[in-house]
Amino acid sequence: MEATMKDVMQANPYEAALKNFDMASDQLELDYDIRMMIRNPERALTVNIPVRMSNGRIESFVGHRVQYNTARGPAKGGIRFHPNVTLDEVKALACWMTWKCAIVNIPFGGAKGGVACDPKKMSTQELEHLTRRFTSGILPLIGPAMDIPAPDVYTNPQTMAWIMDTYSMMKGYSVTGVVTGKPVSLGGSLGRNEATGRGVFYTIQSAADVLNIPMKGAKVVVQGFGNAGSVAAHLLDSAKNYVIAVSDSTGCIYNKNGLDIPKLIMHKSRTGTVVGFPNAEQITPEELIATRCDIFVPAALENSITPENAQKVDAKIIAEAANGPITPEADAILFEKGVFIIPDILCNAGGVTVSYFEWAQDESHVFWDENEVYSRLEKIMKTSFADVMKIQRDRKVNMRLAANMLGISRVAEATRLRGLYP
Ligand code: GLU
Repeated sequence: MEATMKDVMQANPYEAALKNFDMASDQLELDYDIRMMIRNPERALTVNIPVRMSNGRIESFVGHRVQYNTARGPAKGGIRFHPNVTLDEVKALACWMTWKCAIVNIPFGGAKGGVACDPKKMSTQELEHLTRRFTSGILPLIGPAMDIPAPDVYTNPQTMAWIMDTYSMMKGYSVTGVVTGKPVSLGGSLGRNEATGRGVFYTIQSAADVLNIPMKGAKVVVQGFGNAGSVAAHLLDSAKNYVIAVSDSTGCIYNKNGLDIPKLIMHKSRTGTVVGFPNAEQITPEELIATRCDIFVPAALENSITPENAQKVDAKIIAEAANGPITPEADAILFEKGVFIIPDILCNAGGVTVSYFEWAQDESHVFWDENEVYSRLEKIMKTSFADVMKIQRDRKVNMRLAANMLGISRVAEATRLRGLYP
């Protein structure tokens, strides 16, 4: 289920990101000089992307790449294609990538890219031209040692293959390490496609452990059945949870006894929608959010939980597979209600963690098997969860603040050690 335009207008994600930065910096009693060095994005590039469309005419699209911070290593973050992309949204997402990479302690800074377009209405050829022209626009910024894009909303391994090819053509030789989330046959990593959803699953296991909620038999609601949501649903289903409600941008479905997730995945890939799945009743987005469950997984876009619907959420755990699904005002309401939130920058960090594995494999030319990827991912996700939990307990703050504190303190430490240039 997508956020409505009204919701998007209501909450500017960049303001939310800065608000969280300020709160965490206050808690950390972060030095004023360091705040001045890390509060704002290092670099932002906006490019015009003219594309010849199938009807023979040229349309022009706007794209952005924002490098928020590179104190800990090359900039890292996905590229999204979506009609609502704005520079402020990309800045917020780049900011979150920075703290996210620091929380899982991988040697990357944070970046994000986005093109305002409606990929669902574009042909494959139009998308290829858009991707290649955008890549050439941001070419001065990207590279395996500088800034490494990856998939995000409505981009996928094929998009990454086009970026890798365009960059390699400009260089004159193949550079696999310029993007992650590539097809495995082009230097992609085993397990990267499932990594975000798998990471979400590991953090849910940790949270259920802390809260003493038995995973077996727990009721789950998943909002958004894309890459992250469907994989998380599949793993939860395999762990004997009941996934009772699921939505995508076309509608919401419900079955109180649990949906057959493997069959639903097949249904969605065949029809492009979760709607019309046999043995399920259709419900409204409002009903989905109000469905009583143990674990609610928002896996769609920003701002899907607002002050208007937060009160209706009836879950013990919210696992933020999406980036920024809860507005700051809604966050306060849910905290009051006692809902345990696994914040996005921790919960969905599995994607970028396996991106790091992919980049390390590309750069070393040595490739790992799937078990190696999964066991390293599980270790990193569970250690990071425990690190955030420790701050939450020691400092008596909520999980979001604790996650921001961990990420920001690591970036601040790197910045302090490096000092101010010149
Ligand atoms: N787009 C994903 C995220 O928001 C992955 C980024 C990456 O792998 O670089 O975390």
